[in-house]
Amino acid sequence: MTTGRPSRARTHRRPRSRTVRVLVALVAAAAVLGIAVVVVPMLRPAGPRPLFQMPVSCGETWQLGTYPGHDDFDVDLFPTEGEAWGRPVLASYAGTVTVAGINGSLGGRTPENPQGPRGRGGGYWVKIDHGGKWETQYLHMLEPPLVEVGQKVAQGEQIGRLGSTGNSGAPHLHYEQRRGWDKVETHFDGAPSGITTDDREYTVKRTSNNCRAVS
Ligand SMILES: [Zn+2]
Repeated sequence: MTTGRPSRARTHRRPRSRTVRVLVALVAAAAVLGIAVVVVPMLRPAGPRPLFQMPVSCGETWQLGTYPGHDDFDVDLFPTEGEAWGRPVLASYAGTVTVAGINGSLGGRTPENPQGPRGRGGGYWVKIDHGGKWETQYLHMLEPPLVEVGQKVAQGEQIGRLGSTGNSGAPHLHYEQRRGWDKVETHFDGAPSGITTDDREYTVKRTSNNCRAVS
């Protein structure tokens, strides 16, 4: 029987199945590569906790706090003396800048208009990779960060100025320490902050020992 139809289908089927085989092989290769590049580093244990310092100037006393709905381990820093706007934000530890930009939207809260429209998210922010899977984050800064992605920073180096961009009620620094994917209790100068939950409002005062400023 010759209808012409089956032979046409056959000639089309062969290249199609070859294409499928190539696609399957590519997907498999991508999966293996993905496991090698993403999963293997994830499984590697974190390095020892760096000796983080407070992200504010040496010798100054700041209030560290949290409140219900903040997020576990997140810390808000307010100075106990002087104007908050524009205060230097310092790297807690040496590392490489991995984010320097805008998270969410800036809003319009400035020193001239402190009750201006609230933005969303973190506003001007910086993230620093300290190696060994340790990271720190600095949110709500006043102006574009003073550092750029890829830049190496020293402990105590200024990375920005304190502000109220993003979802922020008043000028303050929102700060986090992370180990791998997890937020962890912030430690400063080797001592835990005591901020581990956002179940209730909690504040504590600490004095910065971030005294090795370079640059
Ligand atoms: Zn916060």
